[in-house]
Amino acid sequence: MRFPLSLTSKLTAYMLSRKKAGAGRFPLVLMLEPTHRCNLACKGCGRVREYRGMMTAEMTVEECLGASRECGAPVVSVAGGEPLVYERMPELVERLVGELDRHVYLCTNGLLVRQRIGEFKPDGSLYFNIHLDGLAGTHNLIVERGGVFEEAMAAIRELKSKGFHVCTNTTVYRETSPQEIADLFGLLRDLGVDGFIISPAYSYSQAKSQEVFMDRAAIRTKFVELEKLLSGFNLYASPIYMDFLTGRRELSCTPWGNPTRNPAGWRSPCYLLVDSHFSCFTDLMEKTPWGKYGPGRDPRCENCMVHCGFEPTAAMEAGRGVRDAIRTFWWQIT
Ligand code: SF4
Ligand code: SF4
Repeated sequence: MRFPLSLTSKLTAYMLSRKKAGAGRFPLVLMLEPTHRCNLACKGCGRVREYRGMMTAEMTVEECLGASRECGAPVVSVAGGEPLVYERMPELVERLVGELDRHVYLCTNGLLVRQRIGEFKPDGSLYFNIHLDGLAGTHNLIVERGGVFEEAMAAIRELKSKGFHVCTNTTVYRETSPQEIADLFGLLRDLGVDGFIISPAYSYSQAKSQEVFMDRAAIRTKFVELEKLLSGFNLYASPIYMDFLTGRRELSCTPWGNPTRNPAGWRSPCYLLVDSHFSCFTDLMEKTPWGKYGPGRDPRCENCMVHCGFEPTAAMEAGRGVRDAIRTFWWQIT
């Protein structure tokens, strides 16, 4: 199976219950950013620049758990910043999984994994999600530091040897070579990596190097090639989202599908854009003018095709038609 049965059944039951309750808008994945501090300053990263003035601010463990309760999404993606610079991360992960029954993706650049691995216990609901944008030369260039790729690979080897689930997260930029990504995934599969998240870069206006980003046409050309080369890998991109990335289908975005909570509050409208912050989840859902956002409505959305905006749409679409439901079910169980 592509995902653990526990995750698939948890998500399906949650979506059915929200629909039965008549919820028009509901989240699927909480993007939790307890801290924005990071031990890197990657070229394409908006966070370390957007929150420059409040890098030392942190959410407490209780605030993080409270955010997860408020939001209710069954999956929590813990990001940042670098989550492993957060001192009480092992406790937070253990409580999200144990107390709140959440499925957790811990998104890390890998640099501190070997140092802190002894503080975590393998669990069917915990995935280490390692950021890797290419082979050594490319990845180290993007993160602007030598040796990061090598450390991330060593971290993956150690995580797998200790029985942890591991997936990787790859952002595709203008200069990304599809063949290099296929070669990277081949190496990672040999190390036992369980699955691969892949998404086009979003052009943060705050990012240092704008030339690394692509428009929609360029993204689609790149993903047609990637789809051919990556057909044998356990991609976590759903078939409906792949149709969208390769131009076979249009999707609208679902900005509330992956809401973001960080030390500044609930970020509105989405993981990528920030127009305001709210102090509670209900205000985020009720006071954000959702109709103003998305391609054709906000120029900042024009070239956005990232998974946090469009995978929730794909998940909702899968429940609407028989053909999409069968394709998505088959994709999940194979
Ligand atoms: S490791 Fe992640 S949070 Fe840190 S600078 Fe790079 S992209 Fe940003
Ligand atoms: S299109 Fe992208 S940037 Fe715009 S609201 Fe949706 S997810 Fe956010």
